[in-house]
Amino acid sequence: MLVCRDFARLLSETLDHPLEPPQRMRVRFHVVLCGPCRRYGAQISALSALLRAMESRPGFAGPAGPLVELSPEARARILAAIAAATPPAADPETRSDQK
Ligand SMILES: [Zn+2]
Repeated sequence: MLVCRDFARLLSETLDHPLEPPQRMRVRFHVVLCGPCRRYGAQISALSALLRAMESRPGFAGPAGPLVELSPEARARILAAIAAATPPAADPETRSDQK
């Protein structure tokens, strides 16, 4: 039977890639028999799902924070360039896609 240390290692591997069927069976069998590992597995699954949900949100910079910190001056220059490059919104009276 799988020992708890091996269970934890295999559970960690499942975050990177799917396990081969024999390993997957050993993990499932261990979870059936071992309450602490069952709880640990549930916690890891919940954390993994939470991270996936956070990563899919716009503006999520990851646990290490943003890769690049802009100075206020650089941020102002970029925002000014975007404002200058954006065409003015079409007149609502003349837009053909209005209902
Ligand atoms: Zn265990």
